[in-house]
Amino acid sequence: MTEFDKLLADIRACRICLDEPERFVLPHEPRPVLQISKTAKILIVGQAPGARVHQSGKPFTDPSGDRLRDWMGIDEDIFYNDQLIAIVPMGFCFPGNDNKGGDLPPRPECPPKWRLQLLRHLEQLELILLVGQYAQRWHLGGLCKPTLSETVFAWSESFEQSTPPILPLPHPSWRNNNWINNNPWFERDVLPVLKSEVERLVK
Ligand code: SF4
Repeated sequence: MTEFDKLLADIRACRICLDEPERFVLPHEPRPVLQISKTAKILIVGQAPGARVHQSGKPFTDPSGDRLRDWMGIDEDIFYNDQLIAIVPMGFCFPGNDNKGGDLPPRPECPPKWRLQLLRHLEQLELILLVGQYAQRWHLGGLCKPTLSETVFAWSESFEQSTPPILPLPHPSWRNNNWINNNPWFERDVLPVLKSEVERLVK
């Protein structure tokens, strides 16, 4: 077994949020959901699996995934090709729901335990997509702005200054329909860049 395979096996067996939680115990058995291979050219960093993805065990098997694929201009065959695309959320397991029915934030235990040692195996990345604020805060460092709108609006900074280029995106959830409607520059200016970069890397 390679070091990479051993790391993936350790992640799939992880029970930290049940056995040694920082604050409260995960309300179900852990089920880490990620897609990864060492040859991936594109990394998608999401938030954490929702209830549907927790059931399916496959990332973005929900309406947010449909919209994200549409933004990227690719179908499911390409999206789920782990040789091309890695999908590594900030928290690997569904964190459960808050008392309003929304998803809780990604588990804070996950990034310090797994993230750096996993990402260092992705040496062929040519594009990183940061989907939502949690991903942007962790990955962008000083390029992250106080609000998601400001960070996405300044997309060209991280796209031009980072290696590999980074594109910050809003989460494709229906909950962000108002944001998308209120910020038409996103579909006009950012999505064409996203589509053309993805097309270049997956063809
Ligand atoms: S969220 Fe991350 S740290 Fe928590 S149990 Fe799942 S894999 Fe382990």
